[in-house]
Amino acid sequence: MVTITGVLPGSFADRAGIKTDDCLISVNGREIRDVLDYRFFLAETTVVLQIHRGPELFDVTIRKGMYDDIGLEFETPLMDKKHSCENKCIFCFIDQLPKGLRKSLYFKDDDSRLSFLHGNYITLTNLKQRDVDRIIEMHISPVNVSVHTTNPELRVMMMKNKRAGEVLDYIRQFAEAGIKLRGQIVLCRGVNDGAELDRTMRDLAQYYPALESVSIVPAKSAVGIPWESATENSMTGFSTFVSNRLPCCAANTGTANKRHKAAASSKLRICLFILLSSLLLFVACKYHQKGYHRNSNQNNRHQHHHINGGDLIFHLDIHRQVTALGVGADAPNQQAVGVDTVGGAGN
Ligand code: SF4
Repeated sequence: MVTITGVLPGSFADRAGIKTDDCLISVNGREIRDVLDYRFFLAETTVVLQIHRGPELFDVTIRKGMYDDIGLEFETPLMDKKHSCENKCIFCFIDQLPKGLRKSLYFKDDDSRLSFLHGNYITLTNLKQRDVDRIIEMHISPVNVSVHTTNPELRVMMMKNKRAGEVLDYIRQFAEAGIKLRGQIVLCRGVNDGAELDRTMRDLAQYYPALESVSIVPAKSAVGIPWESATENSMTGFSTFVSNRLPCCAANTGTANKRHKAAASSKLRICLFILLSSLLLFVACKYHQKGYHRNSNQNNRHQHHHINGGDLIFHLDIHRQVTALGVGADAPNQQAVGVDTVGGAGN
């Protein structure tokens, strides 16, 4: 049951006699608990709304286009309270926020509706099987999941929640039901990196193509772990995973050590490339600046085109370098799982 806080004048609901402060019980016989129920069951050409007004309970029938809005307003966009998390993660970003920020920033949300509507990541720990069934029935997709690790015991330890391990099975259920998934791993040095990260990536790879991508976010600190930025060591599992699957890296490797050295030297090559390109671009700009002054009355258009052309080549080459290493969004060899090394807030 949801309280109606407004009715748009002239809307279907207004013309059907629905009023502010009425309560919406159901649509076409299906109980309405939140915005997902409401939007899902409203997508019909004929809807029967059960309305509660004071002591009265009555039905209102509205005929409309399949996706037409009927003009009801509710107290919150979710038509319900936001679900908060039930975890105490060792790396919690919210706990690490400085004091004095606006109150809403300290709210620890973990809400599958916000995952669908706004792209928030959820940990699955506060979902019950009936919530999972509803997501599958409504085919709510994509679902963004904070995985962190596929090792059940380790996940329980990292999230300080005894359900954290068992709910990993929801990922399988979603994938098998054809729900698109995006994963996130907050990487804590010495906890879920190295071999654990490799295991996690291998486990997740089996859910491709339902699992579309995995973002790895190095944590700056975690409870009980020294404060320091993630280092190359903490990305060991990641680089092993990537180099095992990318021919461009694997061709140069035989052992994990060699692969890490290759990764380091690739980074160096990229830096040198960027440095040289910047230098060339700078010289080219200077040259054209001079040329521009010299030829400004004769050939302005040519000068302009030429500089833009140089700029374009610079960006293209950078893109190719990054793609060849397999960390670009469209890296051709990421067949098992798309891998993003992006930062991001969330659980
Ligand atoms: S990181 Fe997210 S899920 Fe974990 S305790 Fe903090 S708010 Fe909750």
